[in-house]
Amino acid sequence: MQRSNPMAVNHPLLQPTASALGTPLPRVLRPQRAVPADAVRPTRAEVNLAALRHNLRVVKRLVGNVPVWTVLKADAYGHGSKAVARTLERAGADGVCVALLEEGIELRAAGIKVPILVMGGYYGNAWGELLRHDLTPVIYDVGQVVSIADEVRYSGGEAVRVHLKVDTGMARLGATPKEVPAVARALLDRPEVILDGLMTHFACADGTDAGSLAGQLDLFDGVTAEIQRLGLVPRIRHAANSAALVQSARARLDVVRPGLAIFGIEPRDGMAPELRPAMSVRTAIVAVREIEAGQAVGYGSTWTAARRSRIATIPMGYADGLSRALSNKGHVLVRGRRAPIAGAVSMDLTMIDVTDVQGAATGDEAVILGSQHGPLGEDTITASELARLLGTIPWEVLTDVSRRVPRFYREP
Ligand SMILES: *Cc1c(COP(=O)(O)O)cnc(C)c1O
Repeated sequence: MQRSNPMAVNHPLLQPTASALGTPLPRVLRPQRAVPADAVRPTRAEVNLAALRHNLRVVKRLVGNVPVWTVLKADAYGHGSKAVARTLERAGADGVCVALLEEGIELRAAGIKVPILVMGGYYGNAWGELLRHDLTPVIYDVGQVVSIADEVRYSGGEAVRVHLKVDTGMARLGATPKEVPAVARALLDRPEVILDGLMTHFACADGTDAGSLAGQLDLFDGVTAEIQRLGLVPRIRHAANSAALVQSARARLDVVRPGLAIFGIEPRDGMAPELRPAMSVRTAIVAVREIEAGQAVGYGSTWTAARRSRIATIPMGYADGLSRALSNKGHVLVRGRRAPIAGAVSMDLTMIDVTDVQGAATGDEAVILGSQHGPLGEDTITASELARLLGTIPWEVLTDVSRRVPRFYREP
């Protein structure tokens, strides 16, 4: 009798893939997000494309003629990078920044033509993929320069333009000022790699300490001068994220890199009130029940009715990005009114107390993030409000909306 070898895996997805030319394709199996056509339950994120265009205009007005490279990492902060990139490219975005190589490949495959800067600096050994998709790598060490030069020579292609990242105070990625001369020399020795951009990143741009920003910019100017002394002249320099481009004209340099502002959220309250949030998260009530005073709700019975209450159930839970930390803490809008979350948020479902929401019934819209106009009034739950409740930042609130939640794109 023949026994099958449990180690011999024959699943097609686990086989190495190869293009017709025999070159390995990127083995990047991107998890697919639910799409509107798949949507059965009413839970969804709505992305307002007009708001994205408006926010790009607001940023452009602020920075004058400085080119805007919109930051679309992490699937465009949870908004869906393909649709967002297409919208912003048509609206005049001058470039796009992503964190991962695979995020850049996804956008090229979607037909995006503007420069795409891969900021995360991690390429595995997929240098060929990087070059084939015309992506601009951010580099910060000698080994990366050597690898890219080798790849260019090996493939017989044209010289590659790179951006060198300098660490001026973030202590995250980037050549430290001490390491910069060695990287510069590696570049000077290798005409296959062209220093097109020089960049840095601020640690405290959304704070109120302007000194931190100025200190990093001084250091960046010093490193720029040093590189020029060595004989390299970067075409462009850039540093500003959303907060820095609002706060500091000096930080705008030759390109700005806004992420959060493009999605309509102020890095700090009052910084740019004309921005419009692009994403809202909505669902609908799927069940309503009356409970008696003293009766408990949800896992762990952490909420008990103080009076006869009406409890509504919505089909969204922590697996969708409605944080469990909002249990007995957050609110949801129903009929234009706030209904408190009652009990523990569970994986797929959450209960809300609609006792004071007159007429609340199955089928009523429930808004987790965003605005609602209803018969009882109108109200808005912002990403900043949720972030404060959760002890986090709006960036995380946006990226937490999970891939189970289909994104619907709206032209209002
Ligand atoms: C995420 C990121 C940005 C954009 O930051 P926002 O605060 O969202 O505008 C810019 N530059 C780098 C290097 C980043 O990682």
